[in-house]
Amino acid sequence: MPKVNLVVGCGFSGATIARKLAEEFDEKVVIIDAKDHIAGNAYDYRDENGIMIHKYGSHIFHTNFENVWAFLNRFSSFNTYMHKVVALIDGVETNIPFNLRTLYDVFPHSMAERLENKLLQSFKYNQKVPILEFQKQEDEDLKFLSNYVYEKVFLHYTSKQWGTSPQDVDGAVTARVPVYISCDPRYFQDKYQGIPLEGYTNLVQKMLSHSNIEVRLNTSYKDVTENYDRVFYTGSIDEFFDYKYGKLPYRSVNFKLEKYHTEYYQKNAVVNYPVNYDFTRVHEYKYYLNDVSDYTVIAKEYSEAFELGKNERYYPIPDEKNVVLYNQYLNEAKKYPQVYFLGRLGDYKYYDMDNAVYRALELFERLRNQDKL
Ligand code: UDP
Repeated sequence: MPKVNLVVGCGFSGATIARKLAEEFDEKVVIIDAKDHIAGNAYDYRDENGIMIHKYGSHIFHTNFENVWAFLNRFSSFNTYMHKVVALIDGVETNIPFNLRTLYDVFPHSMAERLENKLLQSFKYNQKVPILEFQKQEDEDLKFLSNYVYEKVFLHYTSKQWGTSPQDVDGAVTARVPVYISCDPRYFQDKYQGIPLEGYTNLVQKMLSHSNIEVRLNTSYKDVTENYDRVFYTGSIDEFFDYKYGKLPYRSVNFKLEKYHTEYYQKNAVVNYPVNYDFTRVHEYKYYLNDVSDYTVIAKEYSEAFELGKNERYYPIPDEKNVVLYNQYLNEAKKYPQVYFLGRLGDYKYYDMDNAVYRALELFERLRNQDKL
């Protein structure tokens, strides 16, 4: 008898594992989501003016994983959008990550030149230096520069985003946006980058369109009464265990949408406000697929603590204490060998979309190998 699977969560992780089980094992899959839509936090929709809105904030696909890129391209083509972030630092527009060109945007020319020369003596060209590393400077000029970047790019943004200073968040988080010893102004350097031509919801819809897959929305894990041979759980692992060891903390985000009767609101898809205001950044969605409309929709992004029942989980907070708590749950999970945890919430890891797909593909290969034993 082929096995019957339950997948909890219709985001990238859940949809990937569902598709692989359905098409390669030829097994039945029921995939559920407590929300009324598929695609998890990558969910997008066209509004009344045809503008593709990313409901849970900008999602920009980028990857170096050949297998992930090949897998997703079966379900959608992607455009060649390469993301750049503009930041407004003390009224001056420049690109983030802070790079060699940024020096010339924010400092007088001769000073920028001096700093650039010193950087090129101290670091390799194209090196990505995490801010906490960058702060370890001896040279007076570079010390000045590192204090400047710390204060103007990281300090206020990170306290808005995480409610704490850059020193107190996991180094890997701020290292996502390093100081970049390069003239490359892009946010990502991955080989493959882009936005699915008909959006993420459409892409996930295509992944789930298979005769072995049944999608049930507005359905939480607690509503499920049937028994399954395997369960793939992409929700938060603490919830699965009824929070018996306590709640895993997350950061949440609140997007305040504004619509304007104008072609564009800002010059770029995302403008960061690392110094001013209470929001961290402003998204203007029509840039991603070059939507044509007399209107535009923007979202101001406000970070806040996650509270059960009030808002959504967006970002795990992988500090030492939380990782200990997560590991307690993981240990508990060993008692349920037919339940597999995956995804940003199941693994409590700050995955990008490509990491989520990679992890699900990897889990599937492990199952395939187990089956051969
Ligand atoms: N960050 C910052 N200033 C910026 C951009 C990012 O301090 O202008 C820090 C901040 O702590 C943020 C982290 O770098 O949470 C990672 O940023 P990223 O843009 O990768 O976050 P995401 O797009 O996943 O929300």
